[in-house]
Amino acid sequence: MPEVIPGIDELRARLSRERGNSIGLVPTMGALHRGHAKLLEAARRENDFVVASIFVNPIQFDRSEDLDNYPRTMEDDLRVCGSEGVDLVFAPSTADLYPRELLTFVESPTLAAHLCGAHRPGHFRGVATVVLKLFNIVQPDRAYFGEKDAQQLAIIRRMVLDLNVPLMVVPVATVREEDGLAISSRNKHLTAAQREIAPVLSRALRNALDSIDRGERRAAALWEAALGTFAQYREARLEYFEITDPDTLQPVERVEGPVLVASAMWLGSTRLIDNMRWPR
Ligand code: AMP
Repeated sequence: MPEVIPGIDELRARLSRERGNSIGLVPTMGALHRGHAKLLEAARRENDFVVASIFVNPIQFDRSEDLDNYPRTMEDDLRVCGSEGVDLVFAPSTADLYPRELLTFVESPTLAAHLCGAHRPGHFRGVATVVLKLFNIVQPDRAYFGEKDAQQLAIIRRMVLDLNVPLMVVPVATVREEDGLAISSRNKHLTAAQREIAPVLSRALRNALDSIDRGERRAAALWEAALGTFAQYREARLEYFEITDPDTLQPVERVEGPVLVASAMWLGSTRLIDNMRWPR
């Protein structure tokens, strides 16, 4: 089992013994699954010392119901960390990370204007702020993020560039179930019937990439085709399906270079997101 440290001072004292060793950080909200394991594996491969953080960050939740229902599985998480060779788990409490009213935030208004950001006000400000805090606390050489959360990855990358944060952001490819569904802790909330429908999300994205491969360049045409795909399932409520520039996350009207195709949908009260890049 890895060492578990909740307090910031204790963590800093422990990490000061690793001076000269490279440190990899994998920030998570726990409920660890095969997607997280891939990040931990990459961190293990590329660093002398691996820190996983487990913290369900209240300031990134736009619905309190979602925060309350977020799965908390610390025992299992520690087992996963152990089998992936994590050296240290940083598991602070909310009071550890937010001991006083927070009056400073990281804002990325342009990058948060579309996709999930348009539907989850304040979400990415909460994410970028906690990630910068974790970077400052752990001071890793490398930090690992999943491509599954493409907007989050783009925002963190740009924050690191714009604010000269001295570390490398390492992206990790999305881990999927056999039927294409991106693995997520939220998949647990799906009923059996919803779980059958869920792969429509990755299918719609893949169809869009196939269309671009065949020469379609009009974003509107790709969007209409996706709408048709989702319309086959009455229970699937499409939130957005957008074709954007992969770095600025601004919607494009035509595919002239690399694009990020990203989508979110609801199945009952569960929200699922996914994305793919073109060219693949
Ligand atoms: P979370 O605990 O949901 O905040 O996720 C922690 C990290 O794991 C984030 O960088 C996610 O992008 C990444 N992640 C979550 N699911 C997957 C997946 N299916 N494949 C790859 N990375 C993932």
